[in-house]
Amino acid sequence: MPRELFVVTHNPGKIREYRALLAPLPVRVCFPPDLELQIEVSEDGTTYTENAIRKARAGMEASRLITLADDSGLEVDALGGAPGVRSARYTPGSDADRIAALLARLDGIPWEERTARFRCVIAIATPEGDLYTAEGTCEGMVATAPAGTGGFGYDPVFYLPEFGCTMAQLPPETKNRISHRARAVEAARPILQRLLKGHR
Ligand code: IMP
Repeated sequence: MPRELFVVTHNPGKIREYRALLAPLPVRVCFPPDLELQIEVSEDGTTYTENAIRKARAGMEASRLITLADDSGLEVDALGGAPGVRSARYTPGSDADRIAALLARLDGIPWEERTARFRCVIAIATPEGDLYTAEGTCEGMVATAPAGTGGFGYDPVFYLPEFGCTMAQLPPETKNRISHRARAVEAARPILQRLLKGHR
């Protein structure tokens, strides 16, 4: 019975979240540093699904383990869905630089038009050559200034009306209950449970 799940991400924020999100599954979760692997994949696909599949396949080929990867991003309605699949490469520099660029582009956009969502597509690749995908989204608004220190990426400007704060102001347990990544893991859970029992 396979007891290991390889999660291909070098992003420390994602590693933290996947550790917590996958903890309830009866499996040992490992990341590239645990296997002393550096998985380099070009993420210039045009869809989240394409990028997630590339990463999952590359990770599976390197590890020969059941492998999970995600591709995710922030879709801002007033920007026609940008930065979207290009969220990590929106502007060079740090998360703070990307937040500053996003806020500059939204300067003057009224509050009710600042609707946005995070989207996460998970791909799972198996050594038998099977491939599965699952998706999750989380709706919110782009705040006018960053607030909070939790999470990563665009979390300080992702405002959640139902909580009255940004994603970066939520306790990690709450983000891990409502986030796009949490919802994608929830959608992937039956697939993972089946695969971890050795079924296809
Ligand atoms: P990728 O999935 O590695 O291509 O990168 C996704 C990018 O989208 C990250 O670098 C962040 O900028 C953004 N992103 C994805 N998920 C989150 C999240 O949970 N919070 C904040 N930003 C995120």
